[in-house]
Amino acid sequence: MDFNDNEEQARFRSEVKDWLAANAGPKREGLMAGNQENRYQQAVDWYHKRYDAGYSCLTWPKEYGGQGLTQLHQVIWNQEVSNYGEPDEYFVIGIGNCGPALMAYASEEMKKELLPRMARADDIWCQLFSEPGAGSDVAGLSTKATKDGDGWKLNGQKIWTSGAQYSRYGVILTRTDPTVSKYRGLTMFMIDLQQAGVEVKPIKQIDGGAHFNEVFFNDAVVPDSYRLGGVNEGWGAALTVLMNERLANASAAPDGFEDFFNWAKSAELDGKPASEDPIVRDKLATWYSQHAGVKATTFRMITAVSKGGVPGAEGSLGKLVGASMNQDIANFVIDQLDSAGQLTDDESTPYGGHFQSAVLMAAGIRLAGGTDEIMRNIIAEQVLGLPQEPRADKGVPFNEIPSGNTA
Ligand SMILES: Cc1cc2nc3c(=O)[nH]c(=O)nc-3n(C[C@H](O)[C@H](O)[C@H](O)COP(=O)(O)OP(=O)(O)OC[C@H]3O[C@@H](n4cnc5c(N)ncnc54)[C@H](O)[C@@H]3O)c2cc1C
Repeated sequence: MDFNDNEEQARFRSEVKDWLAANAGPKREGLMAGNQENRYQQAVDWYHKRYDAGYSCLTWPKEYGGQGLTQLHQVIWNQEVSNYGEPDEYFVIGIGNCGPALMAYASEEMKKELLPRMARADDIWCQLFSEPGAGSDVAGLSTKATKDGDGWKLNGQKIWTSGAQYSRYGVILTRTDPTVSKYRGLTMFMIDLQQAGVEVKPIKQIDGGAHFNEVFFNDAVVPDSYRLGGVNEGWGAALTVLMNERLANASAAPDGFEDFFNWAKSAELDGKPASEDPIVRDKLATWYSQHAGVKATTFRMITAVSKGGVPGAEGSLGKLVGASMNQDIANFVIDQLDSAGQLTDDESTPYGGHFQSAVLMAAGIRLAGGTDEIMRNIIAEQVLGLPQEPRADKGVPFNEIPSGNTA
């Protein structure tokens, strides 16, 4: 692809630059737990402002709250906004993963009602897929949806649901027929999380925050109009969500390089600039080349999507390399900070506690959206053309798989 802006893209970039300079706040380091509530309100206010100025969900059709622009406009926005410090992590899953599923499967009426509210962060959405017994193998899930009059009743438990405590709605994958093979008996729904029969319990993390939750369903009612796709055709709908998750992950997951580069430019080691240290210079070269490779691979995926393709295995490559590098960088800088690396207060720690946060979150980033091993499986099968891993449960009815599930 051509990395230079054409005339229209250059015009858009300059418009975005001006708007951000007037409206966005500067980068602020540190994300330790004490700031979570303020950050959430700041994020909502920022999204209202963005939406009202026409800068939210750029690629969505206008009638659903977007701007009808191209993926390349979105890339330009992402590049420019990354120079500022406005938070958007609460909306990445809703807008990146749930929005496209609604676009593909919800009724026209629902799309017009719900998508603009999602785009403005009036409603936050979460993705209810993983369960205690089903993570990498999400098709092995057991949360049941049973037909009940005109609607459905849901019973079961989800876990690791990012942002459920802030969410009004979720997209949920359920089992509607346990007598067929695991991929065949699934159905996907939207669900209102603020109803009787739904309980959200935040999970406390090692950094003191609570990014994700357990969510329990006890006879929670879902109208049939909230069904996304056909009954027992939920796996196809789930793949839409997972494919978009790949794209969102590839564009949004941190690889840590910019922070490392800034640290190397400003820090001192043994009374000399860190950038003169041979080990730091070696790391800079290694991580820069990985960073550049991930970036180019992401652009390749975005180019394919902008030409009507679907996000492919490139996203897995970027996730695998970027998430590991992010963890290596955080560990390396914490080592260089010596005993100051143990401080965890935003005010007194070097770099506002950024690397302390990064070190505590990095392991989770390697798991979220697919673990390293799952990324390797995807690359092995879809890029290298290696044989599929053996699947002992292939074609076996879900309720006959000896897994301990009782569905
Ligand atoms: C920060 C964070 C946010 C998350 N947010 C959400 C969310 O919003 N919604 C949601 O639904 N889920 C979410 N998750 C859950 C996430 O999708 C799962 O953690 C992930 O898919 C792994 O599933 P698991 O934790 O059950 O591990 P398991 O699947 O039990 O895996 C355990 C280990 O076995 C390995 N393994 C499993 N299968 C294979 C295989 N076939 N080949 C080789 N190795 C294998 C894994 O790599 C891992 O090392 C989040 C997780 C994290 C960490």
